[in-house]
Amino acid sequence: MAAQILDGKALSAEIKAKVAKRTAELNKQGIDVCLGVIMVGDDPASQIYVRNKQNACDKVGFCSRTVILDKGTSQEDLEKAIEGMNEDDAIHGILVQLPLPPQLDEKKALALIRPEKDVDGFHVVNAGMLFTGQKQVVPCTPKGIMAMLKHTGIDLNGKEAVVIGRSDIVGKPIAMLLLEQNCTVTICHSHTAQLREHTRRADILVSAVGKPGFVTADMVMPGAVVIDVGITRVDGKVVGDVAFDEVKEVASWITPVPGGVGPMTIAMLMENTLEAAERLEC
Ligand code: NAD
Repeated sequence: MAAQILDGKALSAEIKAKVAKRTAELNKQGIDVCLGVIMVGDDPASQIYVRNKQNACDKVGFCSRTVILDKGTSQEDLEKAIEGMNEDDAIHGILVQLPLPPQLDEKKALALIRPEKDVDGFHVVNAGMLFTGQKQVVPCTPKGIMAMLKHTGIDLNGKEAVVIGRSDIVGKPIAMLLLEQNCTVTICHSHTAQLREHTRRADILVSAVGKPGFVTADMVMPGAVVIDVGITRVDGKVVGDVAFDEVKEVASWITPVPGGVGPMTIAMLMENTLEAAERLEC
């Protein structure tokens, strides 16, 4: 039987509606929730992501302030822009759109964001809190994946979870969140030997690689939940890591691309920004 589709678009709409309701409550108290976005350069994909985030802010009733810096911006100017938003009490969340041009030190820039305003959850303080079970701000994509898994109603306790990809923004934090739910977690990466032997054991398989068609049906255990984080543009079309048509015949649940993890990431950015405003203002 074909897998059930984990519809990130529908679920994200529900989450954004809840965020909009809570935002309206804050508005009644005279608080305007505001997301500050810093973008460096004119990368077309980044422009689309930033526009989508601004549209989401409009929909839930946030204001957004975007600072666009020149492609050749110095580290000093980027840091000044971050400091400006740190000090601005009207801004509750700060997001630096990644990737940054090569002359800029991404880790140093992210470390400057006030952890309370770090709505992406990339600051070392927030990463440390997550890794020590005291989570405050959870990165948006892993948080969205956990919401989707919750939506399936599957009890994660004792399940085998396999994550392909070990980035700081997806692979490592999703592994921590699955571990927190008592999954037995394996993190695979580009040096993993016999990848298929690992993925075939997974009740929950998360792929965050960025290679179209990377996860094929023979890598998936029948009945597994398959979460496709990958986003790659091929001939103007957005595609994931998973060979959707064949894997959906094996899996029990599967996320589509587009319409899966992507919209959930934006919904969680809205939730994180609202929570930052509540923490800073209430
Ligand atoms: P990344 O690009 O930093 O790293 C890719 C990971 O894939 C690495 O950890 C690497 O070890 C692993 N990898 C590469 N080749 C492999 C192989 N042959 N076998 C096993 N592992 C291999 O990772 P990222 O920033 O987490 O992004 C991954 C993908 O997810 C990209 O396509 C990105 O665009 C997408 N993404 C989507 C969202 C979303 O909202 N849907 C959010 C973030 C990232």
